[in-house]
Amino acid sequence: MRIPSEVNNILEKLKQADFEAFIVGGCVRDILRKAKPKDWDITTNAKPEEIQKIFPDNFYDNNLGTVTVKTESKEESLKLVQVTPYRIEEAYTDKRHPDKVRFTEKLEEDLSRRDFTINAMAMDIKGSVKDSFGGQADLKTKIIRAVGDPNKRFEEDALRLMRAVRFAAELDFEIDKETFSAIKKNSQALRAVSKERVRDELVKMIMAEKPAKGISLMKDSGLLKFIIPELEEGVGVGQNKHHIYSVFDHNVYSLGFAAQFGYLLETRLAALLHDVGKPRTKRGEGPDSTFYGHDVVGAKMTAQILERLKFSREIITKVVTLVRYHLFYYNVGEVTESSVRRLVRKVGIKNIKDLINLRIAERKGSGVPKAKPYKLRHFEFMIEKALHEPTSVKDLKITGHDIMEKLNLKPGPKVGILLDALMNEVLEDPKKNKKEYLLKRIQELAKLPDSELAELAKEAELKIGETEERWEEEVKKKHYVE
Ligand code: ATP
Ligand code: MG
Repeated sequence: MRIPSEVNNILEKLKQADFEAFIVGGCVRDILRKAKPKDWDITTNAKPEEIQKIFPDNFYDNNLGTVTVKTESKEESLKLVQVTPYRIEEAYTDKRHPDKVRFTEKLEEDLSRRDFTINAMAMDIKGSVKDSFGGQADLKTKIIRAVGDPNKRFEEDALRLMRAVRFAAELDFEIDKETFSAIKKNSQALRAVSKERVRDELVKMIMAEKPAKGISLMKDSGLLKFIIPELEEGVGVGQNKHHIYSVFDHNVYSLGFAAQFGYLLETRLAALLHDVGKPRTKRGEGPDSTFYGHDVVGAKMTAQILERLKFSREIITKVVTLVRYHLFYYNVGEVTESSVRRLVRKVGIKNIKDLINLRIAERKGSGVPKAKPYKLRHFEFMIEKALHEPTSVKDLKITGHDIMEKLNLKPGPKVGILLDALMNEVLEDPKKNKKEYLLKRIQELAKLPDSELAELAKEAELKIGETEERWEEEVKKKHYVE
């Protein structure tokens, strides 16, 4: 990994104008550990106006002095490079934002305001490293250590509490003992951080290489109490004969496997939260204890948790759906096609694959995984089949026109009711969706008394009502608007 030419050019131009210039922070850390940086930051003793003069194609839109320079690069991580004057931050009375930033002439002062030693290194154009706080040593021994007095640093900015844990989860590093004690001591300061920033850090952690490690560290450091206290209800709560781990450990291990298998954010969140309702529904003790309704209670709790953390509607709805239906039952030959179709309608076509993934992660995370690949493959095949089957009146092989013609009817509500009554049968048995059969059947149905027909139509509506949109509407009604 070398400094890319786009970044080199910027360093070069600053030097030609007689300024010092270094790459700094996360990109130096990543180069040194031979990983690809997510973005590139440059630090310099030039002031914002001087930087702007050298790079006319820039934008300068904040009060921290950062000038964002546009490059010609096609690569996402290189299109914009942030150039920031050496600066230090003065007093954080709100524990969130520095009251004032002050530019300085000394690189070392700039490095000293950074959060962790591995993030507090700079590198010049030739690759020589400025490392005033032992960042290279900590990188080698895989340690997250605060720069300077950890208590002070967390007091200044409480988001750093979460950043420490997030980096431990991303890099699979350990947190230095003194730094960890300071996290414990200052954990309640997380209350002062906006929910959106906490959520963003949580998402980075969940998407990291080792999110299970992150959640465990959050619990042990006392941070979890201020983020998802509901998870802690499962600490030490034993389960029945299908599990060897406590509810908390099982949730965390399931998340670990969901990450190992590269699943989506939503599936990972569902893995972490799928059994969150268990402690509140536990009855009895030991191998025969039960958790009836933990799926429903858990879905409700999941909605509350994600809403509190300001996740988007889309994410909340999907995760709640996965948690709500994670107990789906499937056994070859035992579960009928129509109940598979019912499940697809309830869960939503777009969520089915993730529901299966959740099952895979959750079984692995139970510590007593039964080998089920055949069963799940068969289930997927049944789903495939169900997807090609009719789910609304529009999919029927006859139309209202056909009915009016066949029965000599005028347009009116009766036509709709007859279509619904046919739909009711087709939903139970998709093989009946053939024009010839339907035209014959409609003549028989037309002879039924209106009340009976209305009953059949209503049944169909109820079944169709379980399609994904309606279900999503219901979830929303239940969880957000009360
Ligand atoms: P990532 O790989 O997530 O981009 P990063 O270390 O580059 O990690 P950024 O948020 O991009 O993190 O910040 C860039 C640098 O700015 C950090 O490496 C660190 O030196 C400094 N920094 C960022 N946030 C803070 C903070 N809250 N307190 C102190 N220094 C910070
Ligand atoms: Mg970065």
